Amino acid sequence: MPAEPAATTAPPPQTLSANQKYCHACAAVLDARAELCPKCGVRQSEPAPVGGRNKTSAGIFALLLGGLGVHKFYLGKPVQGILYLLFCWTFIPSVIALIEGIVYLTKSDAEFRAKYG
Ligand SMILES: [Zn+2]
Repeated sequence: MPAEPAATTAPPPQTLSANQKYCHACAAVLDARAELCPKCGVRQSEPAPVGGRNKTSAGIFALLLGGLGVHKFYLGKPVQGILYLLFCWTFIPSVIALIEGIVYLTKSDAEFRAKYG
């Protein structure tokens, strides 16, 4: 009896056309514009919106320029940014910004977007 060659379990990779993508959850081939996977129902959110706020920039602004409220302006909270500017001579905003910067950088991208995106 001839020995069976080791079975290759992986199916041949499907080639995606330009208007297709894989489901994040089950890897089914979807239309690129699909918002929900018809197979598993998982929402296909885009990784990072172009031009969107990102936590790394916000965190770096907060750590380096936080005493001037730069991260608040960046996150679309100009009133808070002005308060930081007004009180920057007390160094209290710098301390708060330092903490905020660490919080931004330790949040997950999803959490950050949910709150500030
Ligand atoms: Zn799926």
